Amino acid sequence: MLQSSPQNITILGATGTIGLNTLDVIARHPDKYRAYALTANGRAEALFDLCKQYHPRYAVLLQEAAADRLRQMLLQAGIETEVLFGMDALEQVASAPEVDAVMAAIVGAAGLRPAMAAAHAGKRIMLANKETLVMAGSLFMQAVEESGATLLPIDSEHNAIFQVMPSKKYPDLHSGGVRKILLTASGGPFRNASREQLLQVTSQQALNHPNWVMGPKITIDSATLMNKGLEVIEAKWLFDATPEQIEVVVHPQSVIHSMVEYVDGSVLAQLGNPDMRTPIAYALAYPERIDSGVGSLDLFKIATLNFERPDTGRFPCLRLAFDVLKRGGTAPAILNAANEVAVEAFLQSRIGFMDIPALIERVLSLSSIKPVTDIPNLIAADQAARQLAQEWMVQSA
Ligand code: NAD
Ligand code: MG
Repeated sequence: MLQSSPQNITILGATGTIGLNTLDVIARHPDKYRAYALTANGRAEALFDLCKQYHPRYAVLLQEAAADRLRQMLLQAGIETEVLFGMDALEQVASAPEVDAVMAAIVGAAGLRPAMAAAHAGKRIMLANKETLVMAGSLFMQAVEESGATLLPIDSEHNAIFQVMPSKKYPDLHSGGVRKILLTASGGPFRNASREQLLQVTSQQALNHPNWVMGPKITIDSATLMNKGLEVIEAKWLFDATPEQIEVVVHPQSVIHSMVEYVDGSVLAQLGNPDMRTPIAYALAYPERIDSGVGSLDLFKIATLNFERPDTGRFPCLRLAFDVLKRGGTAPAILNAANEVAVEAFLQSRIGFMDIPALIERVLSLSSIKPVTDIPNLIAADQAARQLAQEWMVQSA
């Protein structure tokens, strides 16, 4: 019998936390998967190390100068990986005919165009880049539908929800017997901090997440609870849920990765160690299961699971996300853009922790919300919001 050849995987954002975890899982199954294209923003040296190890067909950098450096390093090392650069190249390796699956793990709005390219090309899309759904949920889901792409959520909560949703496809949550989605949140490092303490938080403190190791942007989003807000919007699009059907539950241990409640009173949950290799392996092999390298959950050691209501008074970002979800149109894209600018400024100690929600709220109040028509219209809303956010910082400096 003929042995089937390994699937070609493109990893967008290969040098990031999700990218490296994906490579870790792939390396455990060389008979099933091979790295076809690995991409990064500007870190040529980090991408070179990955090329040495995984020998992809393509390595793509956003920046041209970094691509030149990488090409030199590969030439000297005698590695045949072809180097490309720029946004068009990212789209190309996300949609090439020989690609079987795409891990969309670029951080932020920068991930939108390549993720859309994978959706239009009908790929198996493993979606970590939640900002794509926040900005362009309607267009992205429509592209997936029209092309017949398979969409698998990587965010641990959405992956958990996906695992416990009805396996049959129903026209909506209600006819599938689903009453609500219970989206769990760790509460971040400042779960018990007072308002006064939150005003003093430094980026060093905020970068110290209790349960998960992640890139800097999502780590700050977890501390403000904006990450949970973005995930509420993500859940709306992935599962066709109304805002009322999504409830956020703070669960500090991050053992239950989310739950679905049914009309008969059943609540189904997915549990596991907080390790992103579980959802990654699930998405790679779906509907089969493969080893991810994650060990058994030690329930005796965990012993207790706690649950609390989120406090949107101390964490206004969560309330802002529910607001933009209800407003619709370009509002979520504006929130996302303002948040990206605010997080970057906070990481550079240019603004305080509680300035993050203040800045976003101000940008939203100054923006005109328009219906979503196409990607250029969303990118225009994103750019305008970034401009307003920059002006806010100049004025309040
Ligand atoms: P990270 O910062 O560790 O890595 C980001 C990757 O994107 C890097 O490879 C970087 O080179 C690339 N990149 C950054 N800016 C780019 C640009 N302008 N153009 C092209 N490439 C660019 O981030 P991460 O923690 O791996 O998160 C990636 C995505 O996955 C985010 O959207 C995040 O919200 C989501 N996510 C991450 C986790 C996690 O545990 N880390 C969990 C759930 C969801
Ligand atoms: Mg998550």
